[in-house]
Amino acid sequence: MLDGKVAIITGGSTGIGKAIAAKYIEEGAEVVIASRGKEQGLAAAEELGCEFGQCDVTEYDEVEALVDGVADEYGGLDVIVNCAGIGSTTSLGEMALEEWNKVIAVNLHGVMHGSKAALPYLLESEGCIINIGSIYGLRGGKGAAAYSAAKGAIVNFTQQVAVDYADRGVRVNEICPGFVKTPMTDDVLEDERFYEFIRTRTPMGRAAEPEEVAPLAAFLASDGASYITGANIPVDGGWTAF
Ligand code: NAP
Repeated sequence: MLDGKVAIITGGSTGIGKAIAAKYIEEGAEVVIASRGKEQGLAAAEELGCEFGQCDVTEYDEVEALVDGVADEYGGLDVIVNCAGIGSTTSLGEMALEEWNKVIAVNLHGVMHGSKAALPYLLESEGCIINIGSIYGLRGGKGAAAYSAAKGAIVNFTQQVAVDYADRGVRVNEICPGFVKTPMTDDVLEDERFYEFIRTRTPMGRAAEPEEVAPLAAFLASDGASYITGANIPVDGGWTAF
């Protein structure tokens, strides 16, 4: 249970982040979701019954202002879920350098920004960081050079920060989802040939619902996970076991 815990979930306006927000609220947490799109963010917050903070995770000043504001309003911070991310399905040869920079900025710098801004408060609360990576950070993701690089870096970043702060009570973990049905994957999952690839490549033979990722995020934030840190945990229907 997450009774009384204060949590920020970046990328909480849709998809996996929104499902995590719903689960946290169900378990009694005070939640603030954050993303760039104001209309979508406010609508999601109203639906969920939580607060929304507009923030671009590529801008450290914006992330810091969001985190400071939440900690000030709620009297501290217990959890940050760094979930904001963008997809990218380009191989190295075809990839424009701008695409590399954008994907790294959102998917990797965004995780670092959220973690760094939250750290002073998490040291006070003995709280935790939960990063949302991907199976593409654990295995080469076909046609996803920048995305795989960013997600792979999160694996080691998670371990490194976990090691640095383990003796000061801050836990840092990562969830590595397989293919999940969200706005990010709408297009690829509608492509019959690609879905057939997922079906055959995934031992469980299907993509996941966002609600199948959220329970692990809730467990990792709970006192039940008190001895878990530096873990990169797949939620992937067996993809990485295959
Ligand atoms: P999604 O539905 O497209 O949600 C992405 C969220 O991130 C939205 O709230 C979006 O809102 C926000 N966002 C994007 N860029 C941002 C920025 N610069 N600053 C702040 N917020 C930003 O995608 P999803 O599938 O739920 O993905 C969530 C996370 O799970 C991502 O890190 C993704 O890489 C990871 N993941 C997804 C899958 C999958 O199959 N869906 C698999 C493995 C990992 P705005 O656009 O309004 O900012």
